[in-house]
Order: sequence, then structure tokens, then C-alpha cells
Amino acid sequence: MPHGPASRAAPRTAAISVIRPAAFGAAPDPLDALRAVLPGIAEAATTEDRDGAFPAGSVAALGEAGLLRAPLRRALGGRGWGIEPCGAAPLARALRLVGRASLPLGRLYEGHVNALRLVQRHGTAAQAEAAAGDAMAGMLFAVWNTDAPGEPPLAIDPAGRLAGRKVLCSGAGFATRALVTARPAAMPEAPPRMLLVPLPVGERADLAGWTAQGMRASATGAVDFTGLATSHDMAIGAPGHYLAQPDFSAGAWRFAAVQCGGAEAVLEALLGHLRRTGRGGDPHQAARLGQAAIAAETARLWVESAALRAEAAPATDDAATYANLARTAVERAALDVLELAQRSVGLTAFLRPNPLERLCRDLATYLRQPAPDRALGAAAADILVNGTEWDVR
Ligand SMILES: Cc1cc2nc3c(=O)[nH]c(=O)nc-3n(C[C@H](O)[C@H](O)[C@H](O)COP(=O)(O)OP(=O)(O)OC[C@H]3O[C@@H](n4cnc5c(N)ncnc54)[C@H](O)[C@@H]3O)c2cc1C
Repeated sequence: MPHGPASRAAPRTAAISVIRPAAFGAAPDPLDALRAVLPGIAEAATTEDRDGAFPAGSVAALGEAGLLRAPLRRALGGRGWGIEPCGAAPLARALRLVGRASLPLGRLYEGHVNALRLVQRHGTAAQAEAAAGDAMAGMLFAVWNTDAPGEPPLAIDPAGRLAGRKVLCSGAGFATRALVTARPAAMPEAPPRMLLVPLPVGERADLAGWTAQGMRASATGAVDFTGLATSHDMAIGAPGHYLAQPDFSAGAWRFAAVQCGGAEAVLEALLGHLRRTGRGGDPHQAARLGQAAIAAETARLWVESAALRAEAAPATDDAATYANLARTAVERAALDVLELAQRSVGLTAFLRPNPLERLCRDLATYLRQPAPDRALGAAAADILVNGTEWDVR
């Protein structure tokens, strides 16, 4: 068993021996299964828009549709989503579709995919197999990297115990496998190492600080790891692997895919409004609808193209630069869709319970991702040297 003491409190319910490479066999395509549960997920998102909420039923629905294990390598019983080149296109579609139905759920699923990718890429075979068993058992994984501003970063003390907190942890108190970054207490400047920490439901989490206007149902909060004993088996890869390029930057395509789905949901709501009110023929409204459709499709094209580059084996040389451009383009496109929809619908778009009110809050909040200026600047610096002829680079 690769995990430390806490794994006894949250026991793995599927043994490694149940993992069969052909486990999906005749099982339905997870994308088809996903489409069947999306209406229920979208419906649940309307009632779960409250502080401290977590979309437990929707996470379970993703599990039943096969999405929690689809990010495993095919040899581990998954579909290779996010870990093998064949998984790029279906994962891009899944992230968009989930994001369109519920951005908080999309955020949680994106973290699950990211964590499983890191474990399978940098962990040992035994760690990957154990993670596969956990994912197949329906456990939700997460990646928690953000340290609290003004506090020492999460540290491993000389006795091997963790000291400190992570903040902005989606699924806090609900994700039972958390991949966290930590540094030896004596070397705060050292490259971070990854630890896959088993956590019992409901422990160590504090959601009180999550007062954001949107993404309320993402259970994003602080998690205090102080005193938690680490073990050798929790360490995933070598120090610095978490930040290894091009993966670190190229992986941004996944959150951009979820954001793209959020923009599509806003566009869909705008379209519904114009049809219902009979205002779509007005030339100003028509122009805004057309512009919003262009923006959403622009986002989708960037996402799909970035996914293919990032998920190639190995990732293409331009994968990081391309993803940095893609996330910037998707952010711009989504901001445009928000503005166009709010302008077209007017005050009604800001009044509960109009669905646009929540969709816009969730999207505006989820568009805030780390270091957008640095991402665009790094892309521009690379373009300055290598140009933009993507197909021949
Ligand atoms: C819904 C939601 C869920 C999240 N879940 C998780 C999670 O599960 N795990 C996790 O680890 N994190 C999570 N995060 C945090 C996320 O990864 C980012 O850390 C966070 O969104 C950064 O937001 P920010 O706008 O404050 O970014 P910042 O990077 O602080 O950017 C704010 C602005 O400052 C600029 N800027 C950045 N650095 C500098 C600098 N050094 N000098 C000058 N300007 C600078 C940026 O370009 C930007 O204009 C979540 C965030 C959200 C919104």
C-alpha cells in the first residue's frame, strides 16, 4: 500500500487486482454516457449555487459515466484521457461539455484529470496502479498547489510531518486524494516536491474564506496539513517535476477547455433569450449574437489545437507557447461573450433567478487563473525568437 496512516481512515475500496486493462470493454463510450447525465448536472448546478456547496451527486454521475477513470492509461483500465495522445480530443470535448453544464464541476473534474496525469507520468508503476484503483472506486483527486499569501509555504519538517496550509483548494473536504506541493522546511527555496496525500472526507478543510461571487459550489477552501505524517510512498516523482516544462504550461489547455464550455453556456443562454423575446432580428442584437458565436468558436478552436499539441507524445516543441496563447485567447473570447450577453439581455441578466446571472458569475470567477500576464509575455518572447509558423516548428 503506497499511502501513509491516513489511508486507513479513508480505505481504498477497490484492490489493485480488480484493475483489468480491458475493463471498459463493451462499456459505453464515456462521452455518450456523459451526454446522458449532462441535463441532470446542469439542473443540479442551479440549486447548488450556495456557499459551501459541493456537487456530490454530479461527481457520482461522472463516476457512473466512466469519467473518473477515463483519465487512466488504457493499460490501467482507462481511456487515456489527458495521458495518451488518443485521449486529447475526447478529453477536450468532455471538459467543454462538463464546463457548459456546470463550471464548478468542470473545475473539480479538471483537477481530477490533472492529478491522475501527474501520478501516472511521474509516479512509480505501483503508485499509478494504486491511483487507478482509487479512481475506479469513485474517489475524487485534486491538485492543490497554492500557498497562502503571507504564510510560509507548505513544508515537510525533519520528522517527515507536514506544516502549513494550502489555499484555494477545490474540493476541500471532499476530494480524498490530494496531490500537494511541499518543500523541506530547511530549504524553502528548493524545487517543490509532489505528495499524494489520502484525506478522509470532511477533515482539515475550511471553506469559510471562499466568499467569491461565483464558483460557489466548487468547495474551494483552505486545507491545513499541519501534523500530517508523510511517508516515502506519498512522494510522486522527483523535486521539481511538478513545474517541469512543457507540461506545466501546456496543461493550461485543460482549464481553458472548461472555460470554453462556460462561454458556450452563456452564448446558449443569450440565444435562448433572443428567441424567447423575439429580439434577435434587430440588427444590433444580431451583430452581438454573431460576435458572441465567433468568440465561442474561436475559443473552441484554440482549445482543440492546444490539446493536440500538449497531449502528443512527446508534447510538441511549441506546446507551452501555444497553450499560453490559447489560454489568453480563451480568456479574451469568454470576456467578450460575457460583455455581449450582458449588453444584449440587459438588466435581466443580473437578476436572480435568471440563469445568466449565475453563469456569468461563475465564468467571470473561473477566468481568474494564475499569472495571465506572464503567460502572454512568455509566449511573445518565444515567438520573437521562433516565429509563429506552428506547423513547421
Ligand atoms: C474557482 C477556482 C478554483 C481554484 N482551485 C484551485 C485548486 O484546486 N488548486 C490550486 O492550487 N489553485 C486553485 N485555484 C487558484 C488558481 O490556481 C490561481 O492561483 C488563482 O486563480 C490566481 O488568481 P489571481 O487572479 O489572484 O492570479 P495572479 O497570478 O495573482 O494574477 C492577478 C494579476 O496579477 C498579475 N501578476 C501575477 N504575478 C505578478 C507579479 N509577480 N507581479 C506583478 N503582477 C503579477 C497577473 O498577471 C494578473 O494580472 C482556484 C481558483 C479558482 C478561481
